[in-house]
Parts: sequence; structure tokens; C-alpha cells
Amino acid sequence: PQFYVGSGTCGIAAGADRVMALLKQELAARGQEATVKQVGCIGMCHWEPIVDVRLPGGLRLSFGPCDERNLRRILHEYVDHGVVPGDLLLGVVEETLPGDAPGSPDSAPEAPLQALIQPGPDEPAFPGRLPLLSEHPMMRHQTRIVLQNCGLIDPESLEEYLGRGGYRGLRRALLELTPEQVIEEVTVSGLRGRGGAGFPTGRKWALARRSPGEEKYMVCNADEGDPGAFMDRSVLEGDPFRVLEGMTLGAYAVGASRGFVYVRAEYPLAVRRLEKAVALAREHGYLGEDILGSGFSFDIELKIGAGAFVCGEETALIASIEGRRGMPRPRPPYPAEQGVFGRPTNINNVETYANVPDIVVRGGRWFASIGTETSKGTKVFAVSGKVSWPGLIEVPMGMPVRRIIEEIGGGVADGRRFKAVQMGGPSGGCLPQEQLDTPVDYESLVEAGVIMGSGGMVVMDETNCMVDVARFFLNFCREESCGQCTPCRVGVDRLCGMLEQMTRRHAPGTASEAEEDGEAVLRKVEALARSVREASLCGLGQTAPNPVLSTLRYFPDEYRAHVLEHR
Ligand code: SF4
Repeated sequence: PQFYVGSGTCGIAAGADRVMALLKQELAARGQEATVKQVGCIGMCHWEPIVDVRLPGGLRLSFGPCDERNLRRILHEYVDHGVVPGDLLLGVVEETLPGDAPGSPDSAPEAPLQALIQPGPDEPAFPGRLPLLSEHPMMRHQTRIVLQNCGLIDPESLEEYLGRGGYRGLRRALLELTPEQVIEEVTVSGLRGRGGAGFPTGRKWALARRSPGEEKYMVCNADEGDPGAFMDRSVLEGDPFRVLEGMTLGAYAVGASRGFVYVRAEYPLAVRRLEKAVALAREHGYLGEDILGSGFSFDIELKIGAGAFVCGEETALIASIEGRRGMPRPRPPYPAEQGVFGRPTNINNVETYANVPDIVVRGGRWFASIGTETSKGTKVFAVSGKVSWPGLIEVPMGMPVRRIIEEIGGGVADGRRFKAVQMGGPSGGCLPQEQLDTPVDYESLVEAGVIMGSGGMVVMDETNCMVDVARFFLNFCREESCGQCTPCRVGVDRLCGMLEQMTRRHAPGTASEAEEDGEAVLRKVEALARSVREASLCGLGQTAPNPVLSTLRYFPDEYRAHVLEHR
């Protein structure tokens, strides 16, 4: 048999390395001939470490959580005696090509699965019908395009990526499509930037293509730094070739010859897997000179960021790639005209690129058939906080936030009551209970006072203080501010001070706003938050007050209670 051990950062944190060592030791003791491979995170972080056993025919039994004790049970009950320990079985994985998104021409073949559920005479006896992993409550409402390979393939194996349809998009583009046609497919797809701003990707690529310049650059922004966000890390750890393929397609479309993946140093596993993927892609002709014999040349290098949140802002990121201090600058000029080393540069984030290979293979119209009128395709969310099943999920745009939390996330943990969900990290805001039916699309979320952001979703329960939550995110921005412009440097600091005094964390006994009329304090906080939002130079300062403004909008009584408490 073949074994796959979930070895993303979440799996490793849950003990995957120890489980892997034990698995190899136990198999050797049994004299079993078996291969043991590492895979990335499938998204079910709550059940890590997850171990899959691959059956003849390519189907897999997925078990979790597999600590050492449970692993011994699986080996004893299933490997030795052919009996599936039902309480540990998460489901049967349909290992189909190339994923399970709607409209896929390669949907799951029924026959082999049925053979497994009703085993033939030579196959092991399974008690009852085996559930499919895709029917698991956490999985059944998902549509997986970006995450379709995560947790299923060895991220260090080009062969496994190819086996799941990898590089079909690039092959199609280089052999059948002109760069303009690739841009057209992406434009028709309606794909918008998944880094937060939601700018149409096709339009961005067209601007970069039109920009005059002999040498152009393609940049992947993998500087994910929001508290509660781990989407990009999981994609890079679980399916790095997909991101490289998306970048190479973009490079072909805009006419770029050189690419940079700007990835943070705090993601060592992602960096390692990316490095291996780049080397393998180069070795097999998917990067470098004359890719696939097409005459098109493009190569990628990694730039390791030092963990400054502001470097996620594209002009700061460009400065950092150039070896300068990561400081935002006013725009225009936009990166499409004057980016890295003054050359036309296209910047997209990890998830945006990861969507592109399927768009090129299946067509822009297929992608546009998923989602809403203005927000097409799917969105990956990192669901964390006080939720029963934290993890990484991918849903069609338009799904109500309630469904994500209550059905996919298993609801609020420990039977407590839901209070709010913070969406979009420190740039976003909090949605209260009465707004939970808001669909995840760019416009509806903004209307509700939050943003899509890059996809962090932190669930809060009745025990969380919303003023504390706002203070936490604001403090994060204060520490990450580059200090270049006064509204952000002074304004965010002052706002933090006001909330700290309100919650009496750092200024006990000082003369404070608490001595003023409560409503006047709230008005002052709101006015300052709006000024910072309007006057700051870059996105960090412009969005830093959002958590304050959204909690003031939906939870003013919690602010009032704090003010009154200290009068
Ligand atoms: Fe720096 Fe903040 Fe101004 Fe952005 S808004 S340039 S992070 S000081």
C-alpha cells in the first residue's frame, strides 16, 4: 500500500513528523513493502495529523486524527485485518482528474468507487457503506479549484502534479493560444485579484501587456501576514507547481521574461517546497529558456521577505525586491508602467495565479459560471477562532457567511453563542449575527462594512469583547506601520491609545476620555478613525481603522459599557 501523511505546517504542528517516523518503523517491523509520502494540508486542520491509505485503483481511505495511538489502531485493524476503524475514517478520497469543480469534464468515475463500497470476493471486507470524503460535512459544500490538489499530491513531485492535469493549461496556451487570447480567457472568466482589492485580473494583464518595455516582470505576492490568514501558505505548501504554472501563463500573456515570488521567511516549509518546485520545473522544461519548445522563455526566482506586513503593499514589495527598505510610495506610476527596477510589472497574489491554469484549460466561460454576477469563481478562506472545525476551505462566491460558519465550520465551538466574525484581517471588519446572511462577494461584503481581504475569517463567540478585538487589530497595524506618513503613524497610535484607555489595559488611573461624556468619546474615536482612513498614504493606514469602524457600527454598546465602567 501507499501512505500519505498530511505534512503541511498544521499537520506538522499536530505531530505529523512523529507519526510519519512511527509509520515507517511499524511498516518495517511488519516487513510491509509500502511507500510513505508527504502531502500538504487538505484543509481539515481540525483532524490533523491525517493519514491516507491508497487502495488499488487509486482510491484512498483518509483517517484522522492520527496520533501515535490511532495510527497503531489503523495499522492493526485495517492493514493487518482489513477492517476499517469507522470512528477514525474521515472518508474515501476520490482521486480523480483534475478536481471536482462543477463543469469538470473529468468527473469522478463511479465504477471503481462502487467496487470499493461493495467489495468483490478478493477485496477486504468493509463494514457498511464507506462515506466519501466529499460528503463529509466540512467538504460537501465546497467547490475546490485552487485547493483541488492540496492534501492529495506530493507537493515535491512534478509527476503527481502532471498526473492531476498539471501543466495542461500552459501546454494549451503555448501551443494553441496567442498571449492576447490568454488575456481574453482570463477577462471572460471574470477573475478578480484575490489579494484583497479585487481588481479584474484580465484588465491588469492587458495593461501590463500594453506597457512599453523590452523587459517585463511577473511578481507573485506571497507575503501573507494577516493574523488568522494561512491560505497562501497552504497552497504553496500543498501545490506549488500550480502557482508556478499560473505565473508562467501570466508571463506569457503579458510578455514577461522574469518572475519573482515574494514569500515571507516565516514560511520555511513553503519556501523549501517552492525552491524544489522551481528547480524541478526548470529541469523538465516548464521554466527557463524555450519552454516546452515554444520559443517562450521565462524564469522565476524567490525573494524572501523579512516579515514586514507593509511589504504586502505592492509598491513596498517592489522596493523590497529591489533591495531597498519596504516603504510604500504614492501611485501613479502604477507597477504596470513602472514596477520592479522601473520596468513594467504585473503583481498578483498566490490564489489569483492558482486559478489561472484551470481557466485556460476549461475556458473563461466555465469559470464565470461559478459565483455571482460581479464575483466569479471561488474563494479560499482560512476559518479560525471559536469555530468547531477550523481549517482551510474553498467555496463558490455568493455563499452566505452563515453557511460557511455553521455548516462547513461546524458552528461555534463548545456550544457557545456566536457574536461576530472578523473578515479581511486587520484591514477588514466584523460581521455580527444579523449580517450573517451576507453573501461572500466583493460588493456585498463592503456594503456590510467588511472586506473580502485575502480570506481570513476569525470567529468570535459571546466571551469575546469587541473593543478588545478592534484594539488587537489596530495594535497590529500600529506595530506594522512604516511610519512614513503622519495620519497613519500618529493617528493609528492615537486611536490605539484611546481604545487602551477605554479598556484600561495600559493607562490605569490617568486622565482619560472616560471622564468625558460617553457619546462624545465615541464620536471622537469615529472621527479620528475616518480621518486616518482618508488621509493615509497606503492601504495599511487607509484600512487600519476598519475594525474600529465596523465594531463601532455593530457593537456600540460594548464601547459605551467600557466608557461608563471607568467614569
Ligand atoms: Fe507607512 Fe502607514 Fe503611511 Fe502606509 S499609511 S505609508 S504604512 S505610515
